[in-house]
Amino acid sequence: MSEKYQVCKRCIMDTTDPDIVFDENGYCNHCTGAIAKLNSYPLNLHKGEKDRELEKIVKKIQKTGIKKKYDCVVGVSGGADSSYTLYLVKKLGLRPLAVHVDNGWNSELSVINIEKLISKLEVDLHTFVLDWDEFKDLQLSFLKSSTPDLEIPTDHALIAALYYVASKYNIKYIISGHNLITESIAVPKWSHGHYDWRYIKNIQKKFGTKKLKKFPNLSLFKILYEQVLRGITMIRILNYVSDYDKKEIVEFLGKEFGWKNYPTKHGESVYTYFIQSYILPKKFNYDKRKMHLSNLICAGQITREDALKKLQENLFTDNELKEMINYVCDKLDITTKEFDALMILPNKSYYDYPSYETHIFLKVLRNIFKKWKPMQT
Ligand SMILES: [Zn+2]
Repeated sequence: MSEKYQVCKRCIMDTTDPDIVFDENGYCNHCTGAIAKLNSYPLNLHKGEKDRELEKIVKKIQKTGIKKKYDCVVGVSGGADSSYTLYLVKKLGLRPLAVHVDNGWNSELSVINIEKLISKLEVDLHTFVLDWDEFKDLQLSFLKSSTPDLEIPTDHALIAALYYVASKYNIKYIISGHNLITESIAVPKWSHGHYDWRYIKNIQKKFGTKKLKKFPNLSLFKILYEQVLRGITMIRILNYVSDYDKKEIVEFLGKEFGWKNYPTKHGESVYTYFIQSYILPKKFNYDKRKMHLSNLICAGQITREDALKKLQENLFTDNELKEMINYVCDKLDITTKEFDALMILPNKSYYDYPSYETHIFLKVLRNIFKKWKPMQT
């Protein structure tokens, strides 16, 4: 662990990631890794080559979808990446079924954005509305666990919902809006365990007051079954788009669908925004904007100077913060005093609790099957 504060000279990641490593030039492992990913397949292909690869993928998907109502599943959150993915999939001639998980925290704007997109594209939407009492209890359990993984339950529910729908309609392809241009940097200590049902289950068992009976989940064995036996494949289609530029995409969505941008990344969920702009910086000293902006620096879509300026921007006034805390506490049925007590619990991480990664038998298995990595997001 680094003892003195240091910030990367190429991106804006710093020693608030306890595992960051710098080389002799003062460049960190995150941007070095991100640049390597941006220079690897399929991002390193020329436009024509990318178009051809994309065409091949589309044909493959269409072939598996013959005589079926849908040939692929696309998750939509209301955010720019997933909205553009759905548009692109339709434009390429595919027949998607859109899937959305409503965890009770959608911002008004995200609901409007999803509606506009779905109706103009004439796509069917399958919405999973999480059981609020159960989900609220799970969210409180994660707050009590004192890890920064507060959004893991939502992320996991979305993954599980995508596989559930793919399996139900016998669809072989899940098209994901994740991409290496805007999301190549991930910091395990800041957020971990998206695919880890064992982790979620154990947190709920230790801190929860309810059994999770309706929560969409995906055990490791279920992933194995769906991926290996049923052959369900996830494709990150945006990696095949030439010059995927965040600013241009946002403008395009606005013009084409009347889609409106959010004040911050992940502004489509009130809780995600609250976690990223308040809980993580205040309790853990983690500012995920550093990660998002560093991604864009590596992709050449923002300068380091502008990113540093953006980092200085205040996200809310004291009054807005107070309102936000009251809103979240009301919704979670806790007092602000109880919330304050949770904020000062000793900090923990994913690695302090049982998970698939810490399971001894699975550790051995993983060593045997090193090439198979279902736990990647
Ligand atoms: Zn860096």
